[in-house]
Amino acid sequence: MLREVAEGVLIHESEFCQSNTVVVQGRAGVLLIDPGVHGYEMACLANDLSDSGQTVVAGFSTHPHWDHLLWHAGFGAAPRYGTARCAATARDRLSDGVDAVAKAAGIPEQVPLDLLGLITGLPAGTAQIPWDGPHVRIVEHQAHAPGHAALLIEERGVLVAGDMLSDVLIPMLDLNNTADPIEDYLAALRLLEGVAGEVDVLVPGHGSIGGADQVRARIDQDRAYVQALRGAHVPGDPRVGPSAMPGWEWVGGVHDRQLQLLARTSEHGAAPG
Ligand SMILES: [Zn+2]
Repeated sequence: MLREVAEGVLIHESEFCQSNTVVVQGRAGVLLIDPGVHGYEMACLANDLSDSGQTVVAGFSTHPHWDHLLWHAGFGAAPRYGTARCAATARDRLSDGVDAVAKAAGIPEQVPLDLLGLITGLPAGTAQIPWDGPHVRIVEHQAHAPGHAALLIEERGVLVAGDMLSDVLIPMLDLNNTADPIEDYLAALRLLEGVAGEVDVLVPGHGSIGGADQVRARIDQDRAYVQALRGAHVPGDPRVGPSAMPGWEWVGGVHDRQLQLLARTSEHGAAPG
């Protein structure tokens, strides 16, 4: 079930929205990035790791959305990290209890929620994940969710993009109390463009793994989408409309909703809550 995409970097693809979990081998065990979604998938991953004699020594959540904040008892009690803003946002959103979050977000029943969101925020400005393994640079930006971070596994040339640079999902802006979500997103794309030359393998949070050529292509595609959104144009984007991949037709609805919310924001001069 695990596929190696670079030396010591393995991917598990979930049945839920083509979510990618990343396993990075270190000296004393593995780092798990966005550990997974369905309970049976995480249990299977935990078994595979223990069968091959590998323990989980650290976890990392790229951003505070439920499908990136999960954990399974079989992974053990390793520290689970996120950026400071990611951890604070997760804590805040879970303050009314897991059930309220599950109901609001429509989380499927197969998802175990008992360990949801129990992450430790790394101090603001932390440059690397603290663990005994390949250097993993934290590229934090404000785009899809508060404290969203892409990770660059430097020695392996792997960029873990979180919910950016997907071939199936359009850029989904953070429209919760953000002053200029479009400019934030464009700034984040510029930041990712700045590391593109170091990337051989691109791993989006949802969608297909890309090679070096895909990094700039997906940055360009996402930028074109966001600029079309700003101009309230219909984007000529393959992820929206009849060319959307089978099973991803709902992305068109996400696009329509973003257009509506942005129109309302510019009318009233305030972001919707
Ligand atoms: Zn997300």
